Amino acid sequence: MPDTETYDIVVLGCGPAGLTLAWKAAEKGLSVLAIDKKKNPGDVNYTTLGSFMNLERWQVPKAITQPIDSCYFGSANETGRFACDAHVIGRAGLLDFIDRNARKSGAQTNYGVTLDGIETNDAAAGIKSITFAEGGRGSENSKAERTVTAKVFADCSGVSCSLGNRLGIIRQKVELAVGAEYTVPLKSEPGTIDLYVGSRFLGGYGWIAPLNNSTAIIGCGTLQQKMYGSQKKVLDGMFGMARVAERVENRPIAYHSATLRTGRPLRTIVKGNLIIVGDSALQVNPVVGEGVRFVMDSAEMAAEAASAAVKKGVSAELKGYEAAWKRKYYRSYLACYFLQRLANRFSGNDRLLDYALKKISRSTDPGWRNALAGDVSLGWLAKKVALNLPLMPLLLAKMALSGKAKV
Ligand SMILES: Cc1cc2nc3c(=O)[nH]c(=O)nc-3n(C[C@H](O)[C@H](O)[C@H](O)COP(=O)(O)OP(=O)(O)OC[C@H]3O[C@@H](n4cnc5c(N)ncnc54)[C@H](O)[C@@H]3O)c2cc1C
Repeated sequence: MPDTETYDIVVLGCGPAGLTLAWKAAEKGLSVLAIDKKKNPGDVNYTTLGSFMNLERWQVPKAITQPIDSCYFGSANETGRFACDAHVIGRAGLLDFIDRNARKSGAQTNYGVTLDGIETNDAAAGIKSITFAEGGRGSENSKAERTVTAKVFADCSGVSCSLGNRLGIIRQKVELAVGAEYTVPLKSEPGTIDLYVGSRFLGGYGWIAPLNNSTAIIGCGTLQQKMYGSQKKVLDGMFGMARVAERVENRPIAYHSATLRTGRPLRTIVKGNLIIVGDSALQVNPVVGEGVRFVMDSAEMAAEAASAAVKKGVSAELKGYEAAWKRKYYRSYLACYFLQRLANRFSGNDRLLDYALKKISRSTDPGWRNALAGDVSLGWLAKKVALNLPLMPLLLAKMALSGKAKV
C-alpha cells in the first residue's frame, strides 16, 4: 500500500483551467499538486485560440500572440467586416507560460500520469483520494503508484470530467462540439480573422485564424452530432472557397481534431470538497466557442474560494466559487445558450443566414459586436427576437423567393 501524500488542493487536468487554478492557488500560499496525462504542458491536440482576452491582466508574453484588428464574416452570398481588438494566441506557448508561473509560485505540476483510482467519501462530502502512476501504466518509464489526498479537489479534466462524473454532479444533457483544423501557410491579411457560416458547414462554422504573419489555422466545427464524421471533408472543401484560396495556401502542415463540451450553463459546480472548472463545467462561451478567457477567469474565482475553504477549514466556503461564477456568468451564458440553439436551428438555411449577416453587418447596434465577444444579455436577446417576430412570415416568404445560394 503506497504512502498517502496530502496537499491543500489537487487539480486533475493541466489545460488553461487547471494550470491557472494551480498558479493562483499557489500564489495564495496553498500547497498544490496538478496532474495531467499528457507528456508536457504544451502537448495539445489542436491549436486554434482566438481570444478577446486582456493580455495585460495575465501578463501573457506578446511573442506568443498575433494581434487581430478586423473580423471578416462570410455567408453563402453575403460578406461583412467588423473592426475588433482581439488576438490569436499560441496555445502551446500559453500553456507553457502558465505552467512556468504555477511552478514559480510553488505549485507542483506532474505530466504523463495515468489516473488509476478515485476514492470518494460519501458523495455529499466529495473525493477522499486519487491514485495515479507516473510515466503511464505498464510503460517502461512507469513509476510506483502514488495516492494523494487533499482538502480540496478540482476537476479540470475538460471533456473527460473524470471526477465530476464520478460524483454524478452533472445530471443534465451535455453536448459535444467537434472541430477539425489544418495549419497552413498564410498569404494575406495577418491581422484579420475570418468566420464563415452557411449550409456547407453542416450546422457549424468555419474560420481562418492567423498564428503569425506567415502561418494560419483553417478550421471548422459543428454541434450537429450526425455531422461529426464529416468534419475533415468539410475542412478539405473549404479550400474551394474563393475567399479561402485568396488568403491561405492549400498546403497543410499539420492536421488536428478535437471536441469540447457545451450545453445549458450549470447551476452546480461544487459538491463537498470537489470543484469543477473549465470545459468540464461547460464554461466555454456557448455562442462563440471562445473558452480560454472564460475558463482562466473562472479558475481565478475557484482559487479564491479554495483559499478561503483551506484557511477556514470549511468545505462550504467552496460554494463561494459557484455563487461568484453564477453572479458573473449564469444569465449571460443562458442568453448565449438560447442564441446558440437559435443559430443551430437555422444554420442549414443559406437564405436566412445571408439575410442575418446583411442585417447585422449594416446594424449600428453595438450589441452584435458584444455578442461576438460572448457578451449577450437576456434582455437584449429578448428584444431582438420580439422586434423580429412580426416580420418572420414576410421574411420567410421573401427568402423563399430570393435567388439561389452560391458558395
Ligand atoms: C476545435 C476547438 C477550437 C477551439 N477554439 C477556441 C478559440 O478559438 N478560442 C478559445 O478561447 N477557445 C477555443 N476552444 C475552447 C477551449 O479550447 C477550451 O474551452 C479550453 O481549452 C478549456 O480548457 P480546460 O482547461 O477546461 O480543458 P482542456 O484544455 O481540455 O484541458 C483538460 C486537460 O485535462 C487532461 N485530462 C483529461 N482527462 C484526464 C485524466 N483522466 N487524467 C489526467 N489528465 C486528464 C487533458 O490531457 C487536458 O490537458 C476551442 C476548442 C476546440 C475543441
